[in-house]
Amino acid sequence: MKISVLCIGDELLRGSTVNTNLASIGRELGAVALFPVMEMAVKDAGPEIRDALDILFDRSDLIISTGGLGPTSDDVTKTVVAEYLGLKLYEDAKIADRIKLFWSTRRFGKMPASVLSQALVPEGAKVLENRTGTAPGLIVRSKDLKNTIIMLPGPPHEMYPMLMESIIPYLQSTSKERLYTEIIYLSGIPESCVEEKAAPIASSAPGLSIAYCASPESIKVFLSGKDGELVRKKMNLIRKALKEFLLSPGAKSIADDIFFLLRKRKNKLGVAESCTGGMIASAITDIAGSSEIFSGSAVVYSNDLKMKLLGVKKKILLEHGAVSSQCAAEMVEGVCREFKTGAGISVTGIAGPGGGTKEKPVGLVFIGTRYNGDTIVNQYNFPGTRDMVRRRAVSSALNQLRRQIISLQD
Ligand code: AMP
Ligand code: MG
Repeated sequence: MKISVLCIGDELLRGSTVNTNLASIGRELGAVALFPVMEMAVKDAGPEIRDALDILFDRSDLIISTGGLGPTSDDVTKTVVAEYLGLKLYEDAKIADRIKLFWSTRRFGKMPASVLSQALVPEGAKVLENRTGTAPGLIVRSKDLKNTIIMLPGPPHEMYPMLMESIIPYLQSTSKERLYTEIIYLSGIPESCVEEKAAPIASSAPGLSIAYCASPESIKVFLSGKDGELVRKKMNLIRKALKEFLLSPGAKSIADDIFFLLRKRKNKLGVAESCTGGMIASAITDIAGSSEIFSGSAVVYSNDLKMKLLGVKKKILLEHGAVSSQCAAEMVEGVCREFKTGAGISVTGIAGPGGGTKEKPVGLVFIGTRYNGDTIVNQYNFPGTRDMVRRRAVSSALNQLRRQIISLQD
């Protein structure tokens, strides 16, 4: 099955909205080994939408569109598509009732008549409930059944649940040949080294395809094929070959992994952040249930606070400066002591663009981690912009603690 994506909305072409729907659709289809062949973004206008339908129906069996399903006059997707496929629109009573109910809970007064336009559906359409908004999603097929288009609303918080709850299962059930995919998550190893170990295993059997996706959070490896048993068997071999870099079951990022590792060991984490300004706390608290392992983070930018809150000695600051391995060590020991945690992270560095010297250039970061009574401090020299230095500091800090925890046998 060839799938294409059509993103509809003036704002996408003006650059005032980033096309995150395309990224979510691509990512989630990829996770079940369905890779779109083409994507187009067009404005909310009949001629452009019709041109896009001509091209995409020519190159694919199914189009997933987003946007233009709302109640205002610029939302034309449904009307244009229905006309294109020669289908009439009718009002679906169930959707109309849902929309009226949804409106009544929002206390905006009398509902404008235009809102009910969202209850109009093309004949024969399968209607997908919108749990987080009013415009339903629609699966529509042409009368000769040759063309299928799935229309989803534009707002990402409405589009995404429909994609995950309805579209992915629908696509999997209609695929002529089922593809089986296994995914593993790794960290602490370059992508090229992952490939060196995994590719020979994947190519040792016919009909398997392997893909890699690296991000600061983790490296994802996808293995897919039509023979589910073979996919499982080969992925187990890849797991074995990369055992030491494998994240815990259920973990998709290094932060997730730290959560699982500390929860299993009934330990808590305290963080002392200087140049990352709370970004580590943010990465940890993104995880639902993080209070089970996270005590808190002290954002200690000034020397004064490093001394007052964490007990960093004045002598250390005078002799070595705040950006030093000695300061990172005192920060992580201080935070574990003050927050009464068994695990700790500290970060102190020069994120730039200003503030660097010959001895201490921009990108110099000291990261301290503490676990089981041992403190480790490593020096890093990160290249790139302020943003990149800070993000690399976050993933390196989490990785350093993760490695320290797993280096100890349970
Ligand atoms: P619509 O369904 O066209 O009324 O879309 C409503 C809102 O959803 C727009 O104003 C955008 O903020 C957002 N939106 C639409 N398309 C996209 C997209 N492809 N990616 C991210 N946000 C979008
Ligand atoms: Mg729109």
